[in-house]
Amino acid sequence: MSNITGIFFHKNTLLHKVETDSAENPQRISWFEEYQKTLFRDRYRFFEPYEIDEYFILRVHSRPYLDQIHKYMYAENPYCYDRDTYLMPQSLESALCAASGSLALVEGLMWEECNNAFSLIRPPGHHAETGRGMGFCIFNNAALCAKHLIEHHRLNKILILDLDAHHGNGTQDIFYESNQVLYCSIHQKNIFPFTGSVTEVGNAVGIGYNVNIPVYAGYGDSEYTYIMGKVIQNIFEQFLPQFVIISMGFDGHENDSISELKLTTSGYQGIISILKSFGKKYGPIPMLYILEGGYNLLSLRECIISSLDTLSSSETEMEGFGFSPRAEKFLEDEVRPEISRYWSI
Ligand SMILES: [Zn+2]
Repeated sequence: MSNITGIFFHKNTLLHKVETDSAENPQRISWFEEYQKTLFRDRYRFFEPYEIDEYFILRVHSRPYLDQIHKYMYAENPYCYDRDTYLMPQSLESALCAASGSLALVEGLMWEECNNAFSLIRPPGHHAETGRGMGFCIFNNAALCAKHLIEHHRLNKILILDLDAHHGNGTQDIFYESNQVLYCSIHQKNIFPFTGSVTEVGNAVGIGYNVNIPVYAGYGDSEYTYIMGKVIQNIFEQFLPQFVIISMGFDGHENDSISELKLTTSGYQGIISILKSFGKKYGPIPMLYILEGGYNLLSLRECIISSLDTLSSSETEMEGFGFSPRAEKFLEDEVRPEISRYWSI
């Protein structure tokens, strides 16, 4: 059976930039404009942005926050809104393009025009809260897609799996009191934004629908693979998501100096293979990958290329889950006492 991977890439996402050095810059993905010409059209489908306006953004973000963006994007100092999240006159256009492209892939997946999809966009989104942008993020693309699935497609079991090295405080916050969106994050403990403790489990009807797995510096392929098998597979099996959004940050790569995680390019490829096999075993479940972080230009490029190759491959290789003693001890001592009240892991 043929396997089609949906891709969104648009040059308007490159407009958001700043003269000074920033780890979040257009070079992260600008190479894709040329590279995409080499991809085989029988394995990929390219999507145009879905038409949205600012009213769509208000499904997740507040009016005062949008007003602030309008104000600060014309300010002389691009860093006057936030010390990382620069704003300039084209920032809104790039951020809207990133959100609308991700939305186009949601539609593509819901209408079965592709089997899985990757939204190659920037600026990223998972730190953006309802009322503020931070950590390079302006609009929360993953949250906007999840809201669209709930309000437009009437889905009520959406899993957002956040694999960025940093905790997605914005996404957690937006769905903290929801039982329709299960937010699950594996991230490095005690780095920016300093949220994401295992005790943050959700509130009201959302209790149990927020799962944080804050791992230690030095964790890499074997620990992540073990956690995928022990925790994430059980969550798939018990929650049975109708749609999975992956906040795909590659900044846990061993060559990325923004975190101290030690994942490799083939490790990320292995994680995607595992997710693909879960999607097949418990579904078919539509899966949308949205780019978040990843700041080592070479490693990011390698990871994007190998991810697309894995997603579009007609084979699904289910890899075994090797035993990782330190990941098992970490789960036993720190994760299970909290999470096993809601999920059998
Ligand atoms: Zn990150």
